[in-house]
Amino acid sequence: EALAEGRKWKKFDPAKLKEAPWRLSMLSQLDTALESGDLWVAYQPKLELPSRTIVGAEALVRWSHPEKGAVPPVEFIPVAEQSGRIIDLTTFVLERAVRAGAFIGHRHPGFGMSVNLSAKLLGETEIDTMIGRLLDRYAFAPELLTLEVTETAALATGVGALEPLHRLRSMGVRIAIDDYGTGLSTLEYLRRIPATEIKIDRSFVQAVYKNHSDKLMVHSTIQLAHSLGQKVVAEGVEDAQTLEALAFMGCDEAQGYLIGRPVAFRELVRGLRSVGKA
Ligand code: C2E
Ligand code: CA
Ligand code: CA
Ligand code: CA
Repeated sequence: EALAEGRKWKKFDPAKLKEAPWRLSMLSQLDTALESGDLWVAYQPKLELPSRTIVGAEALVRWSHPEKGAVPPVEFIPVAEQSGRIIDLTTFVLERAVRAGAFIGHRHPGFGMSVNLSAKLLGETEIDTMIGRLLDRYAFAPELLTLEVTETAALATGVGALEPLHRLRSMGVRIAIDDYGTGLSTLEYLRRIPATEIKIDRSFVQAVYKNHSDKLMVHSTIQLAHSLGQKVVAEGVEDAQTLEALAFMGCDEAQGYLIGRPVAFRELVRGLRSVGKA
C-alpha cells in the first residue's frame, strides 16, 4: 500500500491543481455561456454513397470561451451530464439543429439533421414530448431527425430506460448507435436498441485499408447491419483511399475531414450552395 501511495505522489501533476478552480467554475460559466451566445452549434456534412451527395449534417456543440478559447466538448459535456445541465444544453442544440434543418430543407428537400443524445437524457421521460413539440414548431419531418446514442451510453442505462427511445422511434425519429465497435455491448443488447443506423467509430474506419482484420470487421459489420435493415455511416474519413474502400464495401454514408469539417451554420449553407445540390 505504501508503494501505491508513493506512486500516486510521483504522478501528482501541479498543472492539475491550477486547473481545479476552472473545473469548479465551469458549471456556472456554462450557464452564462448558454445565455451569452458563447455556446453555439457547428454542423458537419454527411456524404451519401455511392451518389456522392451531401444529404445531411451532424450538430456538434461548441464553446467559445472569452479567455480559454475553444473548450472541447469532451471537457464540458461530462460536467454538464453530472450536474443535470445536459438537459438545457441538449434542448439548445436540438432547437438550433431542427431550425437549421428546416431552413435548409426549403432549398434541399430531405436534408437530415443528427443530434447527439447523452445517456442521461434517456431516463428523461419527457424527452419524447419535448422533441415532438420541437418538430411540430418547425414543421420538420421526424424521419429527418436522427438521434445519436453511444453504445456505452445506452449500455449504462438500464434496458427499461430505453422506453423514450422506443417512443421516439414510433414517432418516426431515427436512432443511430454512435461510436459503434468501441463499447462492450452484447448482440442481445444491441438488438434491444431500436436503431435505424449505426456509425462505425473512426478508430476502425481509419485503419480500413491499412489493417486487414479491421477491414474484415467493417465489412462484416456493414453486411450484418444491412441484413437487419440498418444504414451504416462511417465517421472520421480523412482521405480518399478510405472513402473508396468504404464505398466498395457498400457503406451508405461517410463523414470526416475529407468531406467537411464541422462549421457554423452560415458556412454550411454557403458550402451547400457551391455544391449546387444536396
Ligand atoms: P462524436 O459524436 O463521435 O463526434 C465526432 C467527433 O469527431 C467530433 O468531435 C468531430 O469534430 C470529430 N471529427 C469529425 N470528423 C473527423 C475526422 O475526419 N477526423 C478526426 N480526427 N475527427 C473528426 P467533437 O466535436 O470534439 O465532439 C466530441 C464528442 O463530444 C462527440 O463525439 C460527442 O460524443 C460529444 N458531443 C459533441 N456535441 C455534443 C452535443 O451537442 N451533445 C452531446 N451529448 N454530446 C456532444
Ligand atoms: Ca455523434
Ligand atoms: Ca461518433
Ligand atoms: Ca466519438
